[in-house]
Amino acid sequence: MTIGRAAGIGMIGVGLLCFGVAAKPVAPPPPPSAPEPLMRVHFLNVGQGAATLIEFPCGAMLVDTGGEEDSEFHSVAVLTAYLDAFFARRTDLKNTLDVLLLTHPHIDHVRGVPAVIERYTVARVIDDGRQPMQDDAVIAISRLKSFLADHAGVAHQVISLADFDGEAPLASATLDPFPACKGVDPKIEALWGGVPNDPGWGEDGYGKERFDNDNNHSIVTRIDFGESSLLITGDLEEVAIRELLHRRPETTLDVDIYQVGHHGSANGTTSDLMRAMSPQYAVMEVGDPVRRHSWTAWAYGHPRASIIDLLVGGVSGTRDVVNEEIGLGMKSFTTRAITQAIYATGWDGTVVLEGDRAGNIVRGTPDIP
Ligand SMILES: [Zn+2]
Repeated sequence: MTIGRAAGIGMIGVGLLCFGVAAKPVAPPPPPSAPEPLMRVHFLNVGQGAATLIEFPCGAMLVDTGGEEDSEFHSVAVLTAYLDAFFARRTDLKNTLDVLLLTHPHIDHVRGVPAVIERYTVARVIDDGRQPMQDDAVIAISRLKSFLADHAGVAHQVISLADFDGEAPLASATLDPFPACKGVDPKIEALWGGVPNDPGWGEDGYGKERFDNDNNHSIVTRIDFGESSLLITGDLEEVAIRELLHRRPETTLDVDIYQVGHHGSANGTTSDLMRAMSPQYAVMEVGDPVRRHSWTAWAYGHPRASIIDLLVGGVSGTRDVVNEEIGLGMKSFTTRAITQAIYATGWDGTVVLEGDRAGNIVRGTPDIP
């Protein structure tokens, strides 16, 4: 580089020119690398109720259809608006839900069924085989039965504990039709379902048979996308959660994301379950207690302080501090600062978590804020 040091500006130019001629041709820039395939879990804000859209690179699954219906909130309109926006972005999916899974036939989980089967292509239906008892849920499920009768090509599977082989999770092509795609094969398994015979659960504190409570028959689903995993327990209550932990190997419950059971009700999560899961994130699908009507988060006192205590002790991730309303009892709340990675649709609106095959999970952007 003596030329450059000795020369003026013009000589530097000549020197660089000579250097360029002598050097090997410059390689073209590499093409932009393909984006890492992701599982996106959309915890939809359907008010007091549940609806979770699980998005894969080559398909989508909807677990439950929400939600709250009162003078201030209309969950079916919210659900269909979100799914419309989702399919407008994912035009490759052609308005198709590969799987519609209903954890149990309570209205806060099945209210949107008629709208979903009418508006989108539903390829497969999974349920727990229980007959609904609430009038509006009876209507929703009878619409589903008519739809299945009229569409012989739509696969339907009832998930019952009778179909499990020992302690192994239950897998099927109806529950998991998703092929390997962009290098990742999503894995979907059931860990619990409709219970055929009363295990001797006895009565709850209100004098009702626990076996007659549809919550205890909720389908429990584990979803793995590479090293990113999610557990959805529906509204399973303590007596059935204990049995779930007894029947399945603890490793099958070890997940990164916990969709908090029963909207954060005091009976929807146990300390043993938290220990088995050791999640990084917890997300509650629950209403905003600002709406003071029957069947709302306010009426139930969801999410309960006792469950928040369990989550704070068991969730490893963190979030920027938020101060949120926590239920002390029915229609009774207090404010608490949250710094663990605990989210709620009633606090945060729709929550999206994105997991990659290596198990890196971050918060994503909803299709409708
Ligand atoms: Zn529910």
